[in-house]
Amino acid sequence: MLDASVIKKLKKSGMVETVLAKGSQKKHEIKALQHLLHELGFGSQLQWEAYGADGDYGGCTTRAVQAFARQKGIETNGTKVTPKIADALIKTAEALKQAQEPPSQDKLTNQVKLGAATLEKGDKGPEVVELQIRLAGFRGTVWDGDYGPGTELQVRTFQRDVMGMEEPTGITDTRTLKALKRFTKKYPLNFNKLKCSCGECGGFGQGRFANEYREGEPKIEAYHNREYPGIHKAILHSLRAAWFYGEQTEETPFLITCGYRCWINNNQRGRRSTNHMGKALDCDFKLKPGEEKRDDMNRCDRFRGVLVEKGNFQIGWRASNRKALEPSRIAPTWIHMDVRQFSRRYLDDRFFVKSAMELDAFEF
Ligand SMILES: [Zn+2]
Ligand SMILES: [Zn+2]
Repeated sequence: MLDASVIKKLKKSGMVETVLAKGSQKKHEIKALQHLLHELGFGSQLQWEAYGADGDYGGCTTRAVQAFARQKGIETNGTKVTPKIADALIKTAEALKQAQEPPSQDKLTNQVKLGAATLEKGDKGPEVVELQIRLAGFRGTVWDGDYGPGTELQVRTFQRDVMGMEEPTGITDTRTLKALKRFTKKYPLNFNKLKCSCGECGGFGQGRFANEYREGEPKIEAYHNREYPGIHKAILHSLRAAWFYGEQTEETPFLITCGYRCWINNNQRGRRSTNHMGKALDCDFKLKPGEEKRDDMNRCDRFRGVLVEKGNFQIGWRASNRKALEPSRIAPTWIHMDVRQFSRRYLDDRFFVKSAMELDAFEF
């Protein structure tokens, strides 16, 4: 029940902060507010399971209003819905409604079949996009569908490192496609390990807050509140490459420690970061017996170097359209990788997936 009409009406009449306030007896209006806050992801503050929409503006509603306002950068103690908060509620509800329009059917149908035909420099099209994204962890370039020198370098890196070719060609022939298929099979992704742990969103957010940014901050991906519809394929394929290189350089497995985190999850833990809403993954090497934090830090530092060299990652977020790693001062004992520096066209919905089937749908 995503309905902000009651709040709209109150806002218009100038009554919003007297009606929607602690101690108010206007149960009908307060219920509408509670329903909306629940829809927007503040069920835990409302203690929704215990009380639902009870029409009583008490401690729980106060906390939910405060949490919502904080998410929008509005300071408040939550005891009333000011006109500013009302505006934010209306705007957010409208954006969410748009995001909830039935998803385009192209997630699966748009996925291309890489045929037996050779792909090489100068080729263009959706199969090149798929190839570029599949090889995101081998050097890696933008997935623009244009097979240029960057894509050739990706293919050469894969041919040399994975296939063991002494003279890699940079041409994606049948043999290379077969090797890519074997590689994909060798590193299956368990999407249960990638799901959000909030217990409410179903695992990959609710598609909320498209085109909404943290108030007072530049409109860049780092502050884009969008809950993307899944995890970006480039990060998942990069993880496969990281597993491969990890096996070569380390003696202990590289494990997923954190995948998706939606706004409910953020609110539960007092976080504001949006990177894990589909654009990032955290991993860590398992400690060997007798190892300490210091060993973990050293290994993470060393492995960041490997990812920069082999995966064309950057440490930090200086360059655009390049995969990023959090520097060690932020992530001392784990590895965080993300795609937040990519421009919008590379963060299109079709690049985000919620299942292994979506990720590896087509056959070579
Ligand atoms: Zn969630
Ligand atoms: Zn992270």
